[in-house]
Amino acid sequence: MRYLLGLILILALAAGGVFLYAGRLPGPSIQITKPTKYVGQSATVEVAITAPGGKLSDYSIVFEQNGKQTTLASMTAAGGNVKADGADTMRITRTFTRNDIPDLKTGPARIVVMATRPVLYELRKTTSTASHDVQVRLERPQVAVLSTKHYVNLGGSEMVVYRATPADVESGVQVGDLTYPGYPASGAKMEGVHITDPTIKVAFFALRYDQDVNTPMFAYARDEAGNSARGDFDRMTFPKPFKKSRIPLDDKFLDRVVPAILETTNEVNPQGSNIEKFLVLNGELRRKNAEKIASYAKQSSPEILWGGVVFHPFTNTAVEAAFADQRTYVYDGKDVDRQTHLGFDLARVVNSPIVAANRGKVVHASPLGIYGNCVILDHGMGVQSLYGHLSYIAVKVGDTVEKEQELGKSGMTGLAGGDHLHFTMLVNGQMVNPVEWWDAHWIQDRIIRKLREASGS
Ligand SMILES: [Zn+2]
Repeated sequence: MRYLLGLILILALAAGGVFLYAGRLPGPSIQITKPTKYVGQSATVEVAITAPGGKLSDYSIVFEQNGKQTTLASMTAAGGNVKADGADTMRITRTFTRNDIPDLKTGPARIVVMATRPVLYELRKTTSTASHDVQVRLERPQVAVLSTKHYVNLGGSEMVVYRATPADVESGVQVGDLTYPGYPASGAKMEGVHITDPTIKVAFFALRYDQDVNTPMFAYARDEAGNSARGDFDRMTFPKPFKKSRIPLDDKFLDRVVPAILETTNEVNPQGSNIEKFLVLNGELRRKNAEKIASYAKQSSPEILWGGVVFHPFTNTAVEAAFADQRTYVYDGKDVDRQTHLGFDLARVVNSPIVAANRGKVVHASPLGIYGNCVILDHGMGVQSLYGHLSYIAVKVGDTVEKEQELGKSGMTGLAGGDHLHFTMLVNGQMVNPVEWWDAHWIQDRIIRKLREASGS
């Protein structure tokens, strides 16, 4: 009998121990994956709650600000359990707007998630809580274009001066699916231009040679909370007929350029005959080179480094090819490839000095695939220039060069049939027609006029 009582006592103590232990088992694990930091006019909360078998007793997602709590989502299991289809993790997504939280104000706030799961054959429960700090930004950004008379040529460049508020909001110009960042107008250091208002910005943009002339374009501003605004500007767009040309390929040319280019790059590794390898260089490597060239836009200076003087037009040179020529490559009597030539080919004499089109900073000075020995200069606010096929490079990355300072000598490195300079202008990494930048009237009317009007002089 004493033995039996002792056994009952031990069992009771053990049961009590298990009961207490069960209460200390970890609660469900909670992850708040959205919003990451900012909450705007509307926001989406995304929460993942994990418990064995997905069994939850209840959960709640609460928005806390200035001592006020608003429940965004909750579930209570009246007698039963909240099931997550047998999976361990339950994902809850809720989008809320200002209407859901009437007292929502700009400033700090917190999202608190509480979840409970049953343990010990559902005799006990264990709870966990997670919280995530967020910033509420309710003021919509504003953007209004100040400049007037925008004329955009297909394959060409343009610029807008606009006001974006608040001053630190991300803004620029959008053309179709391409965006062009804006820069503080205080970086436009030119004669007669003096803008100190931090809300006034400048954005250079392009209408790519392969975009439609009716592509939507507008100034935009958007903040981290997802609030956005757009500003229209008056404009006219003009189509431009691009030339078609046929480029004959022969084995002498292929035998010279194909192995030479492959020696300078490991971005492609084509096999087969030289014409097969050429097609890889002219297609895949051309695309990779364009990506590399576009990547330099991120390094662009926020200041206009060229001071508003026209770009060196390379007069006394023969134009061998113009911008956006549609080239068909012919080998052995057959059309083997088609590419668009995004630059000007300018020939003078073999090994002639190649000069900087304008003041700028060297961002690239080495072989660049099909462009051979290549120099890229940054002129600020996303405007850059490229010099290809050089035989010799006389500058290095980081150098500041003056307008018409020598960058090197012309040559025929890369995909070049003979000694010439391949020259192009770039706007935020997009290749654009340099003709406009060679035109003093265009520089005056499209750039300097707008900046002077904005500075009230
Ligand atoms: Zn060229």
